[in-house]
Parts: sequence; structure tokens; C-alpha cells
Amino acid sequence: MFGSMMNTPMTIGQILDHASNIHGDKHVHTLLPNGKIHRYNYTTLQRRVNQLSNATKSLGINPSDRIATFVSNTFQHLELYYAIPNIGAIIHPLNVQLSPKQLEKIVKEAENNIIFVDNIYADQFAHLQNEIGFRHAILIDNTNQKINNKDSFLKYEQFISEKDCDYSTGIQDENCAMALCYTSGTNGEPKGVLYTHRSMYLHTMAVNHADVFGLTESDVVMPLVPMYHVMAWGLPYATMLSGAELVLHGTNREQIVNLICETGVTVAAGVPTVWKKHLPEMISRKHEINTLNKIIVGGETMPISLIEVFEKELGIEVRHAWGMTEMSPTGTLCRLRKAHEKHSDEEKLKIKAMQGRPIPGVQIRLMNGTQNILPWNGISVGELQVRSPWTVSSYYNTEPSLEHFTEDGWLRTGDLATINSEGYVQIVDRMKSLIRSGGESISTVQLETCLSIHPQVIEAVVIGVPNDQWGERPIAVIVLANNTDENITEILKQHLANEFPNFWIPDRFVYVDEIPKTSVGKTDKQAIIRRILTS
Ligand code: ADP
Repeated sequence: MFGSMMNTPMTIGQILDHASNIHGDKHVHTLLPNGKIHRYNYTTLQRRVNQLSNATKSLGINPSDRIATFVSNTFQHLELYYAIPNIGAIIHPLNVQLSPKQLEKIVKEAENNIIFVDNIYADQFAHLQNEIGFRHAILIDNTNQKINNKDSFLKYEQFISEKDCDYSTGIQDENCAMALCYTSGTNGEPKGVLYTHRSMYLHTMAVNHADVFGLTESDVVMPLVPMYHVMAWGLPYATMLSGAELVLHGTNREQIVNLICETGVTVAAGVPTVWKKHLPEMISRKHEINTLNKIIVGGETMPISLIEVFEKELGIEVRHAWGMTEMSPTGTLCRLRKAHEKHSDEEKLKIKAMQGRPIPGVQIRLMNGTQNILPWNGISVGELQVRSPWTVSSYYNTEPSLEHFTEDGWLRTGDLATINSEGYVQIVDRMKSLIRSGGESISTVQLETCLSIHPQVIEAVVIGVPNDQWGERPIAVIVLANNTDENITEILKQHLANEFPNFWIPDRFVYVDEIPKTSVGKTDKQAIIRRILTS
């Protein structure tokens, strides 16, 4: 027997309706290239979204057309986040940092023939346009800077002006696709993930849970995540459903601390690299940024030393999350339990550096091979597998394969982890990064974590390189603090030897000024390996 409850569809349009009807006086703030802040409220946002929906539809869109965006974190991108799904089309935010070849491949695979382009990316776009020949390109011009072929673009403001301010969404089936994102390609070629209205709506509800992102109407939220990286971790939707204000940093990452002060940001989100970069200024302007009470960090392991500075020195709560493009992206989030209140500060920090527990709606398990489910004892290491209404069931344009999905329908994350008896996940390594030496495994993440707490180390990365005798051996690549000891290599070896068996100690220690990063700010191990192997 079916129940007798209404089956109203969960759509992206519902989120915007709620924001505009209930929180219409709340604002979106965008930092413009000229340093000024553009502001309007959610009522205006909905009006402009409706105009954009009508304008885009008039280009002759078919349902399910994939419409690309090559745009930074601006109010126009936010408008596209709503307007494109509202007309039954699929927004495809392109990673502006990918190589021209990768972009070309992705755009061809997604069959994008309409694109919205930020004028600051016009040069990169010109190359893509030569290869692809988009049917329509619409220019978002926040700078008025001179660009080539300006006449070949439709102009965003003209495009939407005079269009009807009403648009009632026709989306009845919540399982329709609404967005396409590609993985950032840290460990291989980017793969496409097609989100549905339902999956994004449910992800939004789940992350707004108090113990997840916990956004409330009184928050001011700034995603320091590019809007092409897993839909800015779903924050534009979560912020608006909660009635909080949204702050978008445009392209100007140098002004982040000013922006926090000027808009009173209470919650911000970004990868660890972003926080490392801004930390010195945040410390020196500690009293000016006292509205900021929480940061959400993910994408790679947040070093324990960084968590300590944020929590103890700045009084800012760190919520360490683990996720994947394949999970929209949130899978687990780390907060202390009530039972941890009596723990020592050191024990608490150790827990906070874990990736945390599955958020409501996410199921996790640890597998050894295809048959053996491993216990949650904090010791057994296996592949983390996941299931949820916001987890992908097959990659875009490909049949699900056993490489990525199990026969009983779980996603193989490719991450090795332990889970403790309280359900806290600790990522040990990516399966592709784990070093196999003489038949034994060495976790690069554990070595990096240990190195990074040494006071003479600013940043540490461990990579595996081929070795005739052992198969693979670790090499540590390190950014040192100033005034380090002459015999630093011996000191670091001893530091590691206190924690790990001898065969884990890297064969070489290489000192560099900077660690290369990927297009989304993660450590680019592939680039480091290439550099080491050719040096
Ligand atoms: P890519 O795999 O190309 O980097 P994603 O941005 O989707 O694409 O990254 C997902 C992966 O990032 C996860 O499978 C995991 O390896 C890593 N990751 C995400 N969050 C964390 C975290 N908090 N700690 C450690 N690794 C993380």
C-alpha cells in the first residue's frame, strides 16, 4: 500500500522560491574586479533568474541541453545556477584552470553548444571557441575591459533585459538532470557526474543539518571554492535555503580578509591550501575578522597543525569534511561528540583531524577485496565504499563498471580508510597514491601528517617513485620554515622513525620553495612525480 502524502517534486526552483518568498530581503554580495562590492537581494535575484530563464529558452533550448559556464564566483554565475535547471537544461560549470586539451575533450563529450563566458577568461575561451564553434556565446562583462571579437558575443545584460520577470518552472520530475560536473582530475582524467534536481535538493537539506554545515538565517556564507568545483560544494543552494547571506569573491582571492571584514562573513569554506595562504593575514587582523566563527575544509587532508591554529589562536571552529564530486560532494563531516568533552586537548585535535562521520543519508562501509566487509575498529584498512541519494550511480556517458561500482550498487571511492567504533573515518591514502614497497604498503598521508607537525616544516608531500629492488620507494618533498638546522634531513628522519617502521622512511628528502597545486588547489602529486623523475 502506498502512503497518502503529497509527492511534490524536489527541484532547484523550490530552493529559489523559498529564498525569495521567505528571505527576500537577504543579500548576495559579489566582489567586483574594481574592488567594489555589488549587492542585491534574493527578490531581485529571483526576478533576474526568471529573465535569464526566459532569455535562455528563447535561444531554442531543448530539455536536457548541457549549457556550459566559463565564469568566476559572481552573482551572474549564481543566476545561471538557478536559471538553467529551471528551464529543464543542465548547467555545466567548466573548470577554467584545466588545460586547453582537457577542456576541449570535456566540452566535446558534454556536447555543449551554448556557453556563458566571463570577460576575464575571454582569451582562454577564444582557443576553445576555435575548436568547438559554440552556437551561442554570452559575455558576462564586469570589467568593461577590451577583448577581441567582442561583437561575436551576446551581452549578458542586454540578453536578459526586457525579458519577462515571471517564469514558472515546468520541472515536474525531480529525477531530471540539473547539473554536470567533472572531477578535478587529481589522479587521472576528469570524469563527468550528472546531478538531478532530487539529488541536489536532498544534499542541500542534509548539509544544512546542525551537525554538518549547520547554516542558519543569521549566517553570512562565503564559499572560497570555485563555482566549477562540485557546484561550490553545494553552498550556493544550502545558503539560500537556510536564508543566510551569500558572499562571492569574484576572481579576487587577494582581498579575502577585507571581504570578510566588509561583509561580516560568519562561515567560509575552502581547501586547506586556501586557509594556509590566508592564515598569516588572518592572524595579524584577528580582531577585524571576529565575525568568522566557522570554516568548512575539505578536498584533501587538513593538517592537524592548521586545525590547531584556527581553533586555539583564532577561535574559529574547523569542520573537516570529506567528499567527492561523485557525492555532490559531502560524504562525512568531523565534529566532536558529547562523549569527547572530557578528552584532553591533544585527543580532541586528533579526532578533529579525521574526516569524520557519515552525514545523515550517507551509508559507508570498508571493504577488503570484493567480498570481505572489514570491522569498524580504527585499525583495519580497506577501501571506503559509499551509498546515498546524492551519490552517482554511473559516470556521464559510460556504463557503470566494476572498477568504480560494486555489484550490489555501492560507489568504490578509491580511498583507503579506517573507521573507528564511533563511525569516524580516517583517510589513509588514495589507492593510487599508496606506495607498495617490497610487498608492503606505505601511507603517504600518514607520513605527510607526521612531517607537517614538525616545527621546521611548512608543507610536506610524499610520493612513490619506481625502484628496481623494492617496486616503489617514498620520497619526501618539503617546504622548510626559515632558519632550519643544517642537518634537517637527519632530524626529519629521526622524527619519522619515532612513529613508523624503518622501511617507511623516505629514501630522499627534496627541499623546494613551493608545492605545485591542481586546478582546485589540491597538492598536485602527478606534477611532483614528473618533476622528480626528470630532475
Ligand atoms: P579528484 O579525485 O580529481 O581530486 P574530487 O575533487 O572529487 O576530484 O576529489 C575527491 C577526492 O578528494 C576524494 O576521493 C579524496 O581522495 C580526496 N578528499 C576529499 N576530501 C578529503 C579530506 N577531507 N581528506 C582527505 N582526502 C580528501
